[in-house]
Amino acid sequence: MAANRNRKEDAMKTDYNCPHCHAQLLVKDHLILTALPDHGPGILLLMNPEAGNYETIYHSSCRVYDGQHFDFRCPVCHHELRSELHKNLVKVNMTDEHGKHFELHFSCIAGQKCTYKIMGNEISSYGKDASKCLDMLGLIEKS
Ligand SMILES: [Zn+2]
Repeated sequence: MAANRNRKEDAMKTDYNCPHCHAQLLVKDHLILTALPDHGPGILLLMNPEAGNYETIYHSSCRVYDGQHFDFRCPVCHHELRSELHKNLVKVNMTDEHGKHFELHFSCIAGQKCTYKIMGNEISSYGKDASKCLDMLGLIEKS
């Protein structure tokens, strides 16, 4: 059996789609999204697609501060990606390397580290703020 499972390779087999136009949002190893701040120009964000990894790349002229709110949009159809679970969550569809479909929900507030991978009633949470946000959502964390 393959003892040397390569997590990076697994991540690359996972696909992310816009729930509205179904465009592929993962290019090479970055999830590409448009983020509109309340004021000023929009930002193209390159995000690490791994749940719980909050590494984000954007142009050096852009200013992002903790607590800043963004309206996330699909870069292809420009539809807003707001999650139906909460106004502060963003939703994209995800298909893992086994062809299973999930919803990935994460915070639209800069610096708020909470991500939920949801399939039916199964919720996996990631990030240091995840339990706090679960309370906010009225969801019950398993464990
Ligand atoms: Zn779209």
